[in-house]
Amino acid sequence: MSTLITNIGELTTNVADPALTPPTGVEDLDPCGTLHDAAVLVEDGRIAWVGPAAEAPAAAEVVDAAGRAVVPGFVDSHSHLVFGGDRAAEFEARMAGQKYAAGGIRSTVAATRAATDDELRARLRGFVAELRAQGTTTVEIKSGYGLDVATEERLVRLAAEVTPEVTFLGAHVVPAEYADRPDAYVDLVTGPMLDACAPYARWIDAFCETGAFSVAQSRRVLEAGIARGLLPRLHAGQLGPGDGVRMAVELGAASVDHGTFLSDEDVAALAGSSTVLTLLPGVEFSTRQPYPDARRLIDAGVTVALACDTNPGSSFTSSMPFCIAVAVRDMRMTVAEAVWAATAGGALALRRDDVGRIAPGMRADLVLLDAPTRVHLAYRPGVPLVARVWKDGAPVV
Ligand SMILES: [Zn+2]
Repeated sequence: MSTLITNIGELTTNVADPALTPPTGVEDLDPCGTLHDAAVLVEDGRIAWVGPAAEAPAAAEVVDAAGRAVVPGFVDSHSHLVFGGDRAAEFEARMAGQKYAAGGIRSTVAATRAATDDELRARLRGFVAELRAQGTTTVEIKSGYGLDVATEERLVRLAAEVTPEVTFLGAHVVPAEYADRPDAYVDLVTGPMLDACAPYARWIDAFCETGAFSVAQSRRVLEAGIARGLLPRLHAGQLGPGDGVRMAVELGAASVDHGTFLSDEDVAALAGSSTVLTLLPGVEFSTRQPYPDARRLIDAGVTVALACDTNPGSSFTSSMPFCIAVAVRDMRMTVAEAVWAATAGGALALRRDDVGRIAPGMRADLVLLDAPTRVHLAYRPGVPLVARVWKDGAPVV
């Protein structure tokens, strides 16, 4: 089965093409590898050909993009989608002036433990459909609202039903029953809980923050996961500065997430590494925190990704277009940088070389926008611009 998507007004490939490189001495302002009047051929779930529409090969099915823009499916490399209940009242109180603290996670833990597998599964599948409708074709999902062996195992098992990018986050917060003995909880996370969860997970993560886990405790968790064959990533620098970022870089983490508070040493360590810094604008938006300075990071040579961090406490948006709009408006990213970060950047944060770009051999994960250019993703915030979505070549929206 082959499908030709043609008459694409603007195609974001995220692939540097020699023909697109500006003359020597001119800075490359286009990280998106943009083609105009383009076409994409999809065969057996993969991209088979990319080029000018006038030279497109024949295909069994032809989709006329009518001059609209096509971007790679969004790669949302950070979410918490398996949980019970919500925290609308906490959000309302926060907007009325109450401060955000990591401890609110515990109220979601109680609701999650009380929910059945079927209830959690139905909710999770609903969220995945919601993401798809907004153009997300790859999503990472974390556990972390169980915080006991049986419930954490349920959460990673349910997440593994809908994505290969499953993260074991037993070290999300210390549960109430371990409040006065956090190191005993870390023993549980790195022992029986890891044993139960590792078979379903690809990633190990910890929330390294005042009110959650110290750098030493987070390091223990990541090292235990690495010893079990999991790959490390870390929540750090959300609420204040600390040594977590450099610890994660030292351990070769694929990504450090949040990074709202970073020292010059943190930025230098990230810039000199393969660790991606994943920015989560929905969190600053929903907690009324200062936004991270993406410009400072990008100018220093740090690889930046954008993700939603969908969760009931600090960021209950599932919209990558919304995050792109905020990143452009409030974090000083260019539109091209933000779209790249939400696609190719997310792929790097998940160490994936088969998504995030539109090139022969890549998975055919594509989004057709109801707009002539990707600029509209930031220019028209809150407007549903996703017209069609293909995942592995199959239309899903
Ligand atoms: Zn998170």
